[in-house]
Amino acid sequence: TSYGFKRVGAGDKQSLVNDVFHKVANRYDLMNDLMSAGLHRLWKDAMVTWLNPPKRPGWKVLDVAGGTGDIAFRIVEASHGHAHATVLDINGSMLAVGRDRAEKKGLADNTDFVEANAEELPFPDATFDAYTIAFGIRNVPRIDVALAEAYRVLKPGGRFLCLEFSEVEMPLLDKAYEAWSFNAIPRIGKAVTGDGEPYSYLVESIRKFPNQQNFADMITRAGFDRVSFRNYSGGIAALHSGWKL
Ligand code: SAM
Repeated sequence: TSYGFKRVGAGDKQSLVNDVFHKVANRYDLMNDLMSAGLHRLWKDAMVTWLNPPKRPGWKVLDVAGGTGDIAFRIVEASHGHAHATVLDINGSMLAVGRDRAEKKGLADNTDFVEANAEELPFPDATFDAYTIAFGIRNVPRIDVALAEAYRVLKPGGRFLCLEFSEVEMPLLDKAYEAWSFNAIPRIGKAVTGDGEPYSYLVESIRKFPNQQNFADMITRAGFDRVSFRNYSGGIAALHSGWKL
């Protein structure tokens, strides 16, 4: 299936992605619930459980492509209010929603919001104890560059965790999932935001993303040790983990 987005260069790809998230920022959280039938909440909870942030002050996480703050807020809460989370996103509209949510949740002191590109992180080497990215790396034009940046800003001993859509590994589920993503998701997108096309793009980007093992190999090539992954919901999503040792 082609949506006309197939042969775009890195710069074009980034501006398409930016358009999508500027358009949907205000409805983003609702869209997530509708499109994943609420499953994204379970996957995000599982990510933070695996991260297991320490319940003491002084521990810092960078949540890249952090959007409206879902991962950052969960991490701060799991640390019993001790962790500090920097939410980084290339899109100011998504961050603006995130800032509002942080205020409302009383988490503004534990979070800050930085508009920047995952390929060019505005932090010195060895700044963070953990780097998280959820449903974001697929949108980054040069994934190897983003992974190298992740490695650079982590402290030795730091943890990398990436949650992303992946390859469905159950024979019947994959057909159902395909029908859902190519038909239902753009339709829901159109109904809620008035435009289905951005969602067709997102579905297409899921299909093109490397599968579990290939992505694990990319993480290893970026320098990470003890790289592993786990599947959720039959591989609809996968969580990859690595350590900077
Ligand atoms: N992590 C959040 C979550 O799980 O709800 C948001 C995920 S949202 C699907 C993807 C985010 O990636 C968007 O907010 C988008 O602006 C951001 N993004 C896309 N390209 C980026 C880049 N090159 N650098 C940083 N963020 C980027």
